[in-house]
Amino acid sequence: MHPNLWYPYTQAKTAPEPLKVKAAKGVWLELERGERILDCISSWWVNLHGHAHPKIAAAIAQQAQQLEHVIFAGFTHDPAEQLAERLVRRLPTNLTRVFYSDNGSTAVEVALKMAYQYWTNQGQARSTFLAFEGAYHGDTFGAMAVGARSLFSHAFAPLLFDVECVPYPIAHSDDAIAAATEQTVLDTLEKQLTQQPDRYAGIIIEPLVQGAYGMRMGRSPFLQQLQQLAHAHNTLLIFDEVMTGFGRTGDWFACIKANVKPDIICLSKGITGGFLPLAATVCSEAIYTAFYSDDPLQTLYHGHSYAANPLGCAAGLASLELMVEHEAAFQQMEAKHREHLTALTDHPRLTNIRVTGTIAAMDLVTDQPGYLNHLTLDIRKRAIALGLLLRPLGNVLYLMPPYCITDDELAFVYRGLHTLLDEI
Ligand SMILES: *Cc1c(COP(=O)(O)O)cnc(C)c1O
Repeated sequence: MHPNLWYPYTQAKTAPEPLKVKAAKGVWLELERGERILDCISSWWVNLHGHAHPKIAAAIAQQAQQLEHVIFAGFTHDPAEQLAERLVRRLPTNLTRVFYSDNGSTAVEVALKMAYQYWTNQGQARSTFLAFEGAYHGDTFGAMAVGARSLFSHAFAPLLFDVECVPYPIAHSDDAIAAATEQTVLDTLEKQLTQQPDRYAGIIIEPLVQGAYGMRMGRSPFLQQLQQLAHAHNTLLIFDEVMTGFGRTGDWFACIKANVKPDIICLSKGITGGFLPLAATVCSEAIYTAFYSDDPLQTLYHGHSYAANPLGCAAGLASLELMVEHEAAFQQMEAKHREHLTALTDHPRLTNIRVTGTIAAMDLVTDQPGYLNHLTLDIRKRAIALGLLLRPLGNVLYLMPPYCITDDELAFVYRGLHTLLDEI
């Protein structure tokens, strides 16, 4: 470990030495010691079009020579305005106002503040959020509070505000079972919303795929019913699409795929194609209007020094153009995953094989749950030896490659996966 660095999510005492990356191109990382590793997880789910894509690199270089950054209060600029316009054009029609910040956690913080103050600005104290078991919304305090109480948030549990949680309806098997599970969750939510109509500021969910907890996948009909419930009981619906946004689910956004109009959406990760940190919280005109006032106390007092960074916005604009150009790549990846996955259906080490768009996941059958961490580390190490960057979530193996992956490269990934499963 470098003597001046503290790595994220890393226990320095037991973690292996980090691998030094010299360069990257397309889906490949080039290590300093020579070998090439295929980035099967898009470098923590951010990369869309491949590493060092020349079009995004050029857009950033050009912007850097014109306007690298400027305070975003009292001043504005073209890249921020253009990116907002183009994002809004791709989102459900009710979402019209873009608030910029710089990572997924802050996108969620802003959404929570918007939702909470939306009510207080109207004289209502609604201080509770409804969230889902197994949720992950980021590592800042508000985002941790609406996320699952887990290993990650354990040390801070006493500092987190209370949230009410319902189970996330998983749909990994049959539709009839999924529908029954969804109905139970909806009934519970309906009961809560009916019993205490003025208690809830909003409902926050990772739509279609719960990411960090283990790529747990749900269905569109549930989200549609959730929207109806939120509207019927006059509470806000927040979609955390930090991971599912920008093509990951096979459509532009999970809300588009599910045909649902949330009141607020949180975006980050893929927004710049994986080049620069940027985030956007996009809300409805009704929410924006609730802050539009002569009373200074009704202002949303939130902001970050690098809000709407022009370089990030320029990268975002270039990335959106690439998404249009290569729409087929993320639309067709689900079918490609499915072709490869049929060969794994009966594998004795695997269960719950599932796909949503560009994300394929499977649970590893293990009789040593206590050994899980070692197994996870073992898989990471073996994957590197096979030329793959994999990072299982507990016993969940998943693939989420950049959209530019070729058919040959995807076949290479699945060949490696077969070998790995035979080895462990
Ligand atoms: C990664 C993630 C976040 C947090 O984003 P950061 O940029 O890591 O702060 C929030 N929500 C979801 C669904 C995520 O996957």
